[in-house]
Amino acid sequence: MALARAQSAAYVGIQAYPVTVETDVANGLPQFNVVGLPDASVKESRERVRSAIKNSGLPFPGDKITINLAPADVKKEGPSFDLPIAVSLLAASGVIPEEALRNFIFMGELALDGSLRPFKGALVLAQGLKDQGTLIFPQENAREAALENKVAVYGMRSLSEVVQFLLKEKILSPEPTATLPVPPAVFSGLDFSEVKGQPLAKRALEIAVAGGHNLVFIGPPGAGKTMLAARIPTIMPPLSTEESIEVMKVYSVAGLMEKRGLSALPPFRSPHYSISPPALIGGGSWPKPGEISLAHRGVLFLDEMPEFRKDVLESLRSPLEEGWIWISRTKLQTGFPCRFLLIAAMNPCPCGFLTDPQKTCRCASPQIQKYQARISGPILDRIDLHVEVPAVSYQTLTQETAEESSAVIRERILRCRQIQHKRFADMPLKLNVWMRSREIKRYATPSAEGQKLLEAAMKRLHFSARAYYKILKLGRTIADLAGSPVVEAAHIAEAVQYRSLDRQRWG
Ligand SMILES: [Zn+2]
Repeated sequence: MALARAQSAAYVGIQAYPVTVETDVANGLPQFNVVGLPDASVKESRERVRSAIKNSGLPFPGDKITINLAPADVKKEGPSFDLPIAVSLLAASGVIPEEALRNFIFMGELALDGSLRPFKGALVLAQGLKDQGTLIFPQENAREAALENKVAVYGMRSLSEVVQFLLKEKILSPEPTATLPVPPAVFSGLDFSEVKGQPLAKRALEIAVAGGHNLVFIGPPGAGKTMLAARIPTIMPPLSTEESIEVMKVYSVAGLMEKRGLSALPPFRSPHYSISPPALIGGGSWPKPGEISLAHRGVLFLDEMPEFRKDVLESLRSPLEEGWIWISRTKLQTGFPCRFLLIAAMNPCPCGFLTDPQKTCRCASPQIQKYQARISGPILDRIDLHVEVPAVSYQTLTQETAEESSAVIRERILRCRQIQHKRFADMPLKLNVWMRSREIKRYATPSAEGQKLLEAAMKRLHFSARAYYKILKLGRTIADLAGSPVVEAAHIAEAVQYRSLDRQRWG
């Protein structure tokens, strides 16, 4: 009868922290208590651990058992403490020598028959606990945990396999390091060459992706707004290994790793307008990432933006500025990243045909005002490019002219990104959109002629100070796409034309 310890781990947001499972087996009436701020699912662990030990043919002590999860000031959630509880109990009751547990970190849910079940967040733990020990995880989590990892990971199928391994009765080899597949140079499936006409909308998307600028498309139904947005992934540069791991950590915690797989492609998320604020932003009593974090380093596409609840749209304001969602849990200040490219689409009025030269709009003017007012000024302020997408004429649709392919557009974007990477080599954020006033002054001050043009536009069109800086950043990206070290007047002129919603409500 003794005391034994096993190392385990937990996470909040995408931050891992170590948890020690201490087990005391003492003389007394049979009891089984878990202390140290466990939630209901951890308390249920007692029944699973008891059955799993017995059904694995191992002895279960008929004494007073106390399990303590430390540190005690952080809430422990979920069934994945089953395995560390079971092995520390077996060590305390003398089935395994306690030394055998040293240098291992245990995680996993036990089924009643003693088999191990996977848990969410294995990648977060594997990346966060690199130097703290060798991991013993359920087999299903091993591949994910072994991604680009320096630490050994053993995937196990059952409690008895873990015990045999710890007693050196069974020799196993660690999971081989998993690497990210190289993304294809050319995508199969969708391609920009399938979209007829719309040269302005395509150009605006190229600028948006190249410099990371948020964009809204405004146009009648059937103009191709959704078709254009769906093809954005085909022109996005692949993620670096570091960025991919950041993205996959969010998917790991959300339990979506299986769906995403090991991938270096930027995510593309398009939630329906009926989405709730927690589903979009993230949250809940045990914080889960929302759509904005699942879109981290990729695209968040909001189709029919005015149909989203106003509080849902407003909740995007601070994430759009900060690129991070904070979660405060006792001592841990953590959260989820959410640096996404916002692409939105909307009709100009409820019926959609306000700007259509062919069809007649049937909306009353208060209706139109109400519809447009659903997108508040502060949200519009955070969208850099406002782009009108007109209906495509029958003639354009049936023309045989060849449209540019995604591969050609992507090549230009890659070149433009390289220029930005070089410019911001010493900075964590390497896109023009993230420039602060100091960088704007240093890198985006236009030529004298460009400055004059911008000043005139400011006066004539009554731009806000925020819009002024947006135009300078856009001008920088447009100049980069042209390979021009200086932001010229032509670049500023093009940037100004993408601020149509600042000038006036359309219509
Ligand atoms: Zn209308």
